Formats: sequence, structure tokens, C-alpha cells
Amino acid sequence: MHSRDAVFLEDLCPKLRNRRWRQSIHRHTNHCCIYCGKPSESIDHVFPLSRGGMSVTENCVPACLSCNGLKSDDNVFDWYRRQRFYDPRRAMAIRAWIDSDLRLAIRLLEWAQPKQIQSSSSLLHGESESKSEDKKDWGLRTA
Ligand SMILES: [Zn+2]
Repeated sequence: MHSRDAVFLEDLCPKLRNRRWRQSIHRHTNHCCIYCGKPSESIDHVFPLSRGGMSVTENCVPACLSCNGLKSDDNVFDWYRRQRFYDPRRAMAIRAWIDSDLRLAIRLLEWAQPKQIQSSSSLLHGESESKSEDKKDWGLRTA
């Protein structure tokens, strides 16, 4: 009975919640597509909804429309390896992301694309900055 109530309450304000959550996902990569590094215009489900993937942070990555459309329901790693923009660091980042290790994912993405993810100054003393990034908006997972 209690869990039913909780689900119901979340359903009351899904829009705002959803929007905030989506924004937080884009912020993790500084609004860059996790696959190719172009501006992220959408959220991609790593494991597609049609195959039982869930709308939780671990399964949702920022993606440009092109990658999101191209990938469709393929296995993400099979698909990604075939792309011209394939970068093993990004592949590792995707794996870290779906393992809930956002912090590692962000570091790998910084490594793959230093200029766009972080300014050069924060790369020099990056540790403290990425820590504060970690705390906010992390973990909007469904119980
Ligand atoms: Zn892309």
C-alpha cells in the first residue's frame, strides 16, 4: 500500500521532475553527446525502453539527435564500435555511466574531449571541481 502511494505521488508532478532530471543529465557532459561529442539535443536510453531499459540516470545518456536516431535499438557497444567517431575512452565512459559511476564517466569524457567538457584551468586542478559536480543532481533513480 505504501509503495503504491509513493508511485502515485511521483506521477503527480512528473513534468517538472522529468525536465530537471534531463537537464542534470546534459550537465554531466556539459551538453555534449556522449558518443560523438557534438551538442546533446536528446536523451538516449542505452538499453532501449522497448527492451526493458528504464528511465533512470544509469540508462540515460546525453546524445545528439543523429546518434540517438542512428543507434535505434542496437546494442550500444556493437553500434558504437562501428562508428567513425568511435573512441575507446568514450566507450569506457558509457560503460562507467551505466555502472552508475558517473564520476569516472565524466573523467573519461574529459580525457576524450578536454576542451569542451572542462576549461583548461579546471583541468589543472580538476579534482575539487569534479567533486562538487558529483554531488548535485546525482541519483534520481527510482526506488
Ligand atoms: Zn552524437
